[in-house]
Amino acid sequence: MGYQKVKGTQDFIGLDAQKMRLIQDKMANVARCYGFEEIVTPIMENTEVFVKSVGETTDVVTKEMYTFLDKGGRSITLRPEGTAAIARSYLENKMYGEAGIKKLYYVGPMFRYERQQAGRYRQFNQFGVEVYGKAGPMLDADLIAFGYYLCKSLGIKNITLKINSIGDSSSRNNYSKALKEYFGGCIDTFCEDCKKRINANPLRILDCKVDAGREEILNAPKLSSFLNQESIDYFNEVKKYLDNLGIDYVVDENLVRGLDYYTDTVFECIINSDDELNGLAVVGGGRYANMLYDMGKVDVPGIGFAIGLERVKLLMEKEGLFDNLDNSTEVFLMGLDEESKVVTLNLANKLREKGIKAELDYASMSMKSQFKTAERLNAKYIAIIGEEERLNNKVNLKNTLTKEQITISQDDLIKYIK
Ligand code: AMP
Repeated sequence: MGYQKVKGTQDFIGLDAQKMRLIQDKMANVARCYGFEEIVTPIMENTEVFVKSVGETTDVVTKEMYTFLDKGGRSITLRPEGTAAIARSYLENKMYGEAGIKKLYYVGPMFRYERQQAGRYRQFNQFGVEVYGKAGPMLDADLIAFGYYLCKSLGIKNITLKINSIGDSSSRNNYSKALKEYFGGCIDTFCEDCKKRINANPLRILDCKVDAGREEILNAPKLSSFLNQESIDYFNEVKKYLDNLGIDYVVDENLVRGLDYYTDTVFECIINSDDELNGLAVVGGGRYANMLYDMGKVDVPGIGFAIGLERVKLLMEKEGLFDNLDNSTEVFLMGLDEESKVVTLNLANKLREKGIKAELDYASMSMKSQFKTAERLNAKYIAIIGEEERLNNKVNLKNTLTKEQITISQDDLIKYIK
C-alpha cells in the first residue's frame, strides 16, 4: 500500500474544502457583527503555555498533546486548543494596555491525540472567540447567545444549549474535597485514570469518558451546593439576561468541562441526533478569571468558546444545508479546431476577469467528448466556436437548461451571460 494520511486526520477536497471555507466565512461575518477582530497565532507553542493553563491533570495535557523536542532541544506542542495560545499572545503583545475590552476571534487547526470516532479527529478545526477585560454577567450572556446563534445562523436546529456555574476556585476546592470523600469508597471499581484522578483532580471523574453514565457519577454531590453567594448571584444574573434574550437553555449540574482554567459560567451546545454524533458537543466554552494572572500576573478575566468546524459540517450535511451550494460552471467554451481553441482561451479569460466561472477543454477537438466534459462540469451555457463562428467573430451559445441556442457576437458574450 502507498502513503496514507495520519490516523485521525482528513483531506478536504473540492466540495468538502468549499464547505469548510463557507462555514468559517459565515462565522467570521457573524463575529464581526459582534465586534470581534481576527487574531492569527502559530499552530505551535512552547509546551508550558498549555501545561499550567489547561491543567496538569487534564486528559488533554496528560494524554493528548502532540509534544516534541525541536532541534534546539525546546519542548514544543502543536496547539490542542486556542484559549491558552491566544492568552499568551494577549500577554506578550501587551494588549491589556488598550482601553476597554478586547474581543478576538481565531480559526484554525488543533491537534489532540484522541480516540478516533465519529466527529472526533486528531487534527480538527476550531473557530473560537475570546474576550478579555472586566465585564459582568451581561457579557457572559452575550457570548453564550453568540455561540448559540452561530449554530442557528448556519441553519443547525437540533442542538441543546447547556449551561452551568462551576464557581470560583475556593468553591471548587471545597467541592473537590467532598468528591474525594464521596468517591473514596468505590474508586476501586473505576477506570485506572479515575483512580489517579481522585487525588489529583476528583472533578475530572465527573466527565470521564470511560466511566460516563455510572450511577455513582450521576448521584455524586452537586457543585451547586458548594457555590458561594457571589457565584450564585453571578449565575442568576447570567440566566436572567439569557431569559431576556429569549434563549432556551438547560442548567446541567454535571457540566464541568474538560479543561481546568474555567471559573463560574460554563456552557456547551450539545448535538441531538439519531446517530453516533448524539450527545457530542459542537460548541464549548466558559469564563476564566485567573488564567492571565497565572500566566503573566495580569489581573484581567477572560471568557470564550470554541466551535468545531468538522462537527458543524457533519450536522449541516445531515440537515441538507449544503444542497444549494452551486458549484457549477457558468460557461463552458468549446473550440472545434486548433485556431478556435485559441479563441476560446481568450474568451474564457475575458469572462473570468468579469467574475464569471468559465472552463474550456484544452486538448480534445471532438464535439462529443467536449459535450461530455461540459455535462460533468454542470455548465449552464456552452459556447461553441467552429471555423464559421471564428471567421465571423461569433459564438454559438447554448443554454443547457432551456436548450435554447443562439448565435451572438463574441463582444456581446459577457453582456449576455451577466
Ligand atoms: P473543547 O476545546 O474541548 O472545549 O472543544 C470545543 C469544540 O471543539 C467541541 O465542542 C467540538 O465541536 C470541537 N472538538 C473538540 N475536540 C474535537 C475533536 N477531537 N474532533 C473534532 N472536534 C473537536
